[in-house]
Amino acid sequence: MDSRLCAALELARKAYGALEPAEPPGRWTTLACVVLGQIDATAQTSRRRQWFTGSILASPSDVAEGKDELIAVSLTRGRRSPRKAGVLRQLAQWWLTQFGDESEVGPWKGPTEQFREELVRLPGVSLELANRLLLFVGDHAVYPIDRPTVRLCCRHGWMAVEDEYEVWQSFLVGGFEGETRWLRQFCLLAARIGRAHCGRVASCDGCPLQSLLPLTGPCEPETA
Ligand code: SF4
Repeated sequence: MDSRLCAALELARKAYGALEPAEPPGRWTTLACVVLGQIDATAQTSRRRQWFTGSILASPSDVAEGKDELIAVSLTRGRRSPRKAGVLRQLAQWWLTQFGDESEVGPWKGPTEQFREELVRLPGVSLELANRLLLFVGDHAVYPIDRPTVRLCCRHGWMAVEDEYEVWQSFLVGGFEGETRWLRQFCLLAARIGRAHCGRVASCDGCPLQSLLPLTGPCEPETA
């Protein structure tokens, strides 16, 4: 365990609670929540959940067979970006080839690299999204290296922007000893801190991680 990451997780939990994903790993609905940016349970209202479960989006086979326009209408009704229709349909078709039309399949069994390669081949699936799906849906020990995490780790001097992708993975995944629950929590908490304090400009006063800063203050990502 990396003591800096553990301390950060602990402090963030004290400030915001132990954030949990809206859906557990292994479900199609979890995948849809990740794609739609609704994976933080506290961001999902009961109204939004009701819309989701009653829509075409709740079933992988309906999405796979649906036209993009139909999926887009459903997304618009739920006040989500209709531009996600294409990637959702691609992922639904991939899901059917992997798991059939089951909506709940448990953790994905198989090599992480193989899943990642298949996912990034789909139009609209970035490496970051593939890793997010692997962690939140597949329950694989990888980290979606996103902007909030990069800013946080660089400003604290733990990592540098120019560090290789594998070095980032090893710092974060190794730092939490591959414990997927902590990786998910850290990812959600980093996003929360990013929105509240650690955006384009760091606003460290009152940030839960202020006590972990270097004595000289935050390093800027470009120079960390
Ligand atoms: S706002 Fe400051 S204290 Fe908070 S995470 Fe960013 S660099 Fe750290």
